[in-house]
Amino acid sequence: MTNTENKSNKKPKRANTKKKVSAASTKKKAVGNKRPKPLNTNKKAAIKNTKKETNKKPEKAPFKVIPLGGLKEIGKNCTLIECNNEILIIDCGLAFPEYEMFGIDIVIPDFTYIRENMEKIKGLIVTHGHEDHIGGIPYLLQEVQVPVYASPLAMGMIDHKLEEHYISCERHVIKAGDKFNVGSFSVEAIQTNHSIADSLAFAVKFGGNTLVHTGDFKVDYAPLDGKVIDLNRFSRLGDEGVDILLCDSTNVNRKGFTPSEAVVRKSIDDIFNNNDARIIIATFASNLHRIKYFIEASMKHHRRIAVSGRSMENVMALSRQLGYLDDIPESVFINIGETKNIADRNITIITTGSQGEPMSALTRMANDNHKSVKLKKNDVVVFSSSPIPGNEKVVSQVVNKLYEKEVEVVLASSMDVHVSGHASQEELKLIHTLIRPKYFMPAHGEYRHLIEHAKLSVSLGQSKSRVFVMSNGDALSINGSKAEVLKKYTSGEDVMVDGYGIGDVGSVVLKDRKTLSQSGLITISVAIDQATGSLMAEPKLSTRGFVYVEENMELINEAISVVYNTIGRSTSKGALDESSLSRAIKSDMKAFIYKETKRNPVIIPVILYV
Ligand SMILES: [Zn+2]
Ligand SMILES: [Zn+2]
Repeated sequence: MTNTENKSNKKPKRANTKKKVSAASTKKKAVGNKRPKPLNTNKKAAIKNTKKETNKKPEKAPFKVIPLGGLKEIGKNCTLIECNNEILIIDCGLAFPEYEMFGIDIVIPDFTYIRENMEKIKGLIVTHGHEDHIGGIPYLLQEVQVPVYASPLAMGMIDHKLEEHYISCERHVIKAGDKFNVGSFSVEAIQTNHSIADSLAFAVKFGGNTLVHTGDFKVDYAPLDGKVIDLNRFSRLGDEGVDILLCDSTNVNRKGFTPSEAVVRKSIDDIFNNNDARIIIATFASNLHRIKYFIEASMKHHRRIAVSGRSMENVMALSRQLGYLDDIPESVFINIGETKNIADRNITIITTGSQGEPMSALTRMANDNHKSVKLKKNDVVVFSSSPIPGNEKVVSQVVNKLYEKEVEVVLASSMDVHVSGHASQEELKLIHTLIRPKYFMPAHGEYRHLIEHAKLSVSLGQSKSRVFVMSNGDALSINGSKAEVLKKYTSGEDVMVDGYGIGDVGSVVLKDRKTLSQSGLITISVAIDQATGSLMAEPKLSTRGFVYVEENMELINEAISVVYNTIGRSTSKGALDESSLSRAIKSDMKAFIYKETKRNPVIIPVILYV
């Protein structure tokens, strides 16, 4: 899987070659400063070449790009490339449920198309280890056995997930610079920068076409691990000709450049230099480089480090296993329970809970129910994170709790203790300019992000007719110079996971859950004599989440008389089969309850014939 030939890429060979070529062409004819577009070059070549040679040139095979997730949302990224009856999957993530998805644990892409084309699937390549790119993998592998290609950290995280689901797969660990084949797809992994180590972009060649997928990225000239995004490779791909670019749109609305992780380092140094108190830092467990820097800063200031929170502990264990923390002596870590016995100025606690998650270690500390850490006045709590859209309120609740404890709170809004992992406008422009794709599909963003990204590419000279803002489940079909969007080519719906149930909770169930949560439930039990059709006993009403029965006996009694009336009326008409009686009770009760209370609880008649 390793590719040594790529090492030569580091040498600035390209610059020399290019100089020679352009010198030659200036002699022949003043071609101008414009770099020849790859398509034109082909055309010229075709004209010059004999017919025989033209036939030799491989035609570009038609292909489709089918996003199953990740468009018009931030989450569950999953994209298929289909060419010559083969399919390559890029990423398979999950999304977290929206506010109205009551009881749903996670949301995954709809794998219907994958299920229907199982024999075509050649493999899954993974850009990086964030949940919105790997979280759906266990569910995908339950449907179809595919080889998975991922960088060491992402693979470690995938392994962990697969263990939890008791499944395994054919796994290939890859790194930046590697070139490998997945079926007939020739894939190259390219170094990028992001908020998790080992993030990759992919250049995929198939049927004479080249597709570039940036993954989540930013351009960081001073990343903490020293591995700068391989702009050189992007530039050369641009020279060679790229048919289609799929590019991260998350921060397209932000002007300028996303600051480097080095900025965070400076702020962290300031915090450690200026504080003798206990320092508690909450951040994303996956941002390993940053966590490593917290550890190094702590060591410099003779602080021991305790880690709190399950996901943080898991990532630390995995990092040590993969050798990311090789230069950190084991002895600097202490158990969270031991922090009580050490002076405050000698402790750093790294914790989960930067998003205000209710069960997280930091939230438990703020609520005074963490079993080992009791917050006290002057503790310094650093949020090395920004709230993910939707989490603002819960984060602010935790922050208020911390203020109540007279803890010193450091937020990203007041100090540079966090930077985004996604490219802002100027970085996006750079990538577009280097790659100059024939077609462009904005990826990884809400609708507004995709539209703005489309506009950005057009502002750089991209032809509007070659930019495709798509929906999950659409297919972009490309056949040489012809490209069209096949609307609703397959299902791009959300599949909701609730416990062990995958996709068994649909919109009807959700609607019930919503009604239940808003107005509660009434059950009406009636026992009816099968022979005479008369009631055997008084109907029984039970309620949950509707009204408190003891205090509303009048309403309940009236409701019971409504049931009597309904049954009496139905019996007189002779309509006594279970379903029509049930319908009649439901509709009369609904009307009565609404009239009396203006509420719409779920009503369940239970009819027993004896
Ligand atoms: Zn990411
Ligand atoms: Zn992402």
